[in-house]
This record gives sequence, C-alpha cells and structure tokens, in this order.
Amino acid sequence: MDVTALSMTDLADAIAHKRVSAEEAARASLDRAAKCEPALHAFLELFEREAIEQARAIDARLAKHEHPGPLAGVPIALKDNICLSWGRTTCGSRMLEHYRSPYTATAAQRLIDAGAVIIGKTNMDEFAMGSSCENSAFGPTRNPWDVSRVPGGSSGGSAAAVAAGIVPGALGSDTGGSIRQPAGFCGIVGLKPTYGRVSRYGLVAYASSLDQIGPLTRSVRDAALLMQVMAGADEHDATGSLRAMPDLLAELEEPVNRLNIGVPRFARSGTNHAAVGDSLERAAAALSADGAVVRDVDLPHAGHGIAAYYLVATAEASSNLARFDGVRYGRRAEVRAGEGLDDLYCRSRSEGFGPEVQRRIMLGTHALSSGYYDAYYNTALKARRLIRRDFETAFETCDALLLPASPGPAFRLGEKTSDPLALYLEDVYTVGVNLAGLPAVTLRAGAAMVDGRELPVGVQLVGPAWREDLLLRIARMLERSLPPVTVAAV
Ligand code: GLN
Repeated sequence: MDVTALSMTDLADAIAHKRVSAEEAARASLDRAAKCEPALHAFLELFEREAIEQARAIDARLAKHEHPGPLAGVPIALKDNICLSWGRTTCGSRMLEHYRSPYTATAAQRLIDAGAVIIGKTNMDEFAMGSSCENSAFGPTRNPWDVSRVPGGSSGGSAAAVAAGIVPGALGSDTGGSIRQPAGFCGIVGLKPTYGRVSRYGLVAYASSLDQIGPLTRSVRDAALLMQVMAGADEHDATGSLRAMPDLLAELEEPVNRLNIGVPRFARSGTNHAAVGDSLERAAAALSADGAVVRDVDLPHAGHGIAAYYLVATAEASSNLARFDGVRYGRRAEVRAGEGLDDLYCRSRSEGFGPEVQRRIMLGTHALSSGYYDAYYNTALKARRLIRRDFETAFETCDALLLPASPGPAFRLGEKTSDPLALYLEDVYTVGVNLAGLPAVTLRAGAAMVDGRELPVGVQLVGPAWREDLLLRIARMLERSLPPVTVAAV
C-alpha cells in the first residue's frame, strides 16, 4: 500500500484497523520527505527520532486496544510559526534561528492529543510576511508541480509538503491569504477558519486581529477532520470564541438544497490569468448543475481591501515585533565597546530581520505615528468596517461567495521579488476575508498550461461567520464535480 497517497481519513482508518502501523506511516512520510526535500525544501526541520517515538507510542496504545484518537498515527507538519515544545520555532527568521519554545500551541497540542505524529516544521515567509515563500531567511520552498515556481506563501512549506504527499495534512496560518493562496498554487485544499474559531495561543503573532491557524489537506473531508479536532475555546486565548463547533463531518456529504451562490463582480477582473476566469466559470457551472442559483453580487468596497490590509497588518506587526530586540527575545548582535543600548537594539534588529520584515515594520510604525494615525491607520479601520458590512449584506441573500484564490497560477521564483507592490496585489482576493473575520476555503478547480506545464488553479468559497459547517458542505459539493486531487510526482 502506498501510504503517502492516502487521504488522512483513509490513513487514520488503516492505522486504527491495524492494516498499517503508525510507525510505518511515520517512516513512509520521512522517506518521502528524504526523496522530495532536495528539490522542494518544504521543511526547516524534520523530527526523525521524535516522530518514530511518537508513532511507536501510538502503536503500543493500539496494541492494548486503547483508542488514541481520530488522528491516531497520522503524520502532520506544522508551519514554523506554530510553537512546539521540541525542535526550533524560527518563523523563517534569523531573529529566531535558535529559538526553542518552552510550550506547544493549543492547536498543535489538540492534534497531538488526538494521536497525530508531528513530522516536522515547514518553511514560510519570514514572520508570515509574503505570498511566495521567498522571504524565508533559510531559502525558498519550490512548487511540487514545477520546481522553477513558487509554492505561494506564506504557508508555502506546508502546502508543498501536502501536495507532494509527504504528509496528508499540515497546519498553516492565514493573516491575509497565507493558507488559501498557497493551497491554490499547489492544487490542494486550504481552510481559513472564522476569526476566533481556533486558538492563537502559541502562534507567533503577525497581525493579531487577522491571524488564524487552519488546515491544508488534499480533501475537504480531511480539512473538516483537522478543524473538528483543533477548534474551540481555549482559556489561553481571550479572543477565541466560546461557541461549540458544530459536527463538521456528520452532514458533510449532504448536498445543500436551495443554495444561493454569489460571485462578486470585482472577481471577474480582466487582469486575471485566463485560466483563473475559466476555473471560476467551471466551478460556478458545477454548482448550478447541482441546483444552486449563481448570480453576481457587489462588494462595493472590495477595491480598498489591499490598502486597508497593508495598513492594519503592518501597524499590528510593528507592535507585535517590537519584542524581538535581542534582549527580551531573539538574536542579539555582538556587544561593542562604547555602544549604548539603542545601538544594540538597532544592530540586533537590522541583523535579525530580513528586508521585507523591516519594510513592514517601518510602514506600520509610520501609519501609527502621531500626525499620521488618522490619515492612515484610522482610515484603514473605517475601510475595514465597510468591507465587513459589504460581506454581511451579501450574506443576506447568499449562502456563500465564489471567487478566485489569486489572480494567476504560481509564478516563477524571482519573478516578483524586485516589486513588493506586485506581490501585495497577489492578495486581492484573500485579504477582505481576513479584514471581515470570515471563514473561506480554497479548492483546486482547474489548471493553467504555462510553458508546457500544467499548473493548478484554485477557487475560493467564502462563508458567513461561524458557518464552517455550511461552507465545508458546499465545498464538498463542488469537490465532487472536480477531478480528484492527486499527489505531485517529485
Ligand atoms: N501575503 C500576505 C502578506 O504578506 C498574507 C500573509 C499571511 O496571510 N500571513 O501579508
């Protein structure tokens, strides 16, 4: 049996029924990583010894007829901004190159408590700032469908690891698209939960009012499974909701009757790659064939999304990253005779942070500075409220919205590195969802032929707040009409 091609659900079932041992699953995952890593660099750290130990402990419990949980023996990868009490948590940054977290993030702990085996920590844009994984201080990750191209970002390592079959599922974080855009570039499923659904305790903060942890998988069912295990209140995160997560798996296969789908007009932009428009139409046609009414809707303030996002996110980042000064946290520059404390902070931060992180700290600090606060930060908050209201209005008549995951398929490494704004514009279809705090999921809905290679193209479904149950049922309806997701041959 090729364990690495199995879905998480099938693998968990095979392990629970002892057709495969947890140790075999962990070894298969590590072997696949050994094969793919020279080409992909999806991981910053692999836990060979710890993963085998964890897997053996699961096998020992299964042998005693215990039930270690719904993820018993399933290999999982974590984005490297999610704290784990072993290994390093670097956030893709020199600043945290040697950081060892003393504790494990709640989301990761819940997976471990459900029996998951942590295979390793995945590569990412530094502090989750980027859309290509090229901002990692430790070198980029490559797209498994074409290694000359980026996997998207910032959760690019997690997306590449899942697409290449190293793990059936991984965790990423999404502040402005960092789960959904790489899921689209790598042809897999990526779910950004409602803000407050998953505890942020142990997620290194980028922009606290936007950040959410979520799953990357190869099927909607597997995303639902990881969400079910992870979601729910946590005493360590005061922004987390106390609402119980409905049972996501119970009605997943039930089609939704009298479904209304809205396609925001701005999503049909003429600047999209042709294959993005085709995939959108194909997804809309598939949902109509299942009885849905699909019609155009307006999100009048969507055009302000990028500007509002890059003010709010950088303002929050400039505050969150203040702790990395070489004294409280992070890499400390060499102390030189005659220099004062400010010099030490300055050199530590200049050496520890890469250029994009520095740019964003400066942007955010400027937006918050007295004299500019109203013109920038406060105006962005106003735009944020209008964007949220647009979505609320749309959900008065729609069950979900359908739009692209990004304006084009995966681009080449280096193609957008000299133009930060071009990279920011990649996020046009994802950032509004974070500003409004909504759940959204990306699925592979088509392909683009570029330079003789077939690249995946994703679409995104956005749901009303707290309706992951409805959103995933609609995603499952759509998934049934699409070709099955396969593992990329690396
Ligand atoms: N690409 C966006 C940014 O660079 C989103 C990143 C994210 O979601 N972490 O900020």
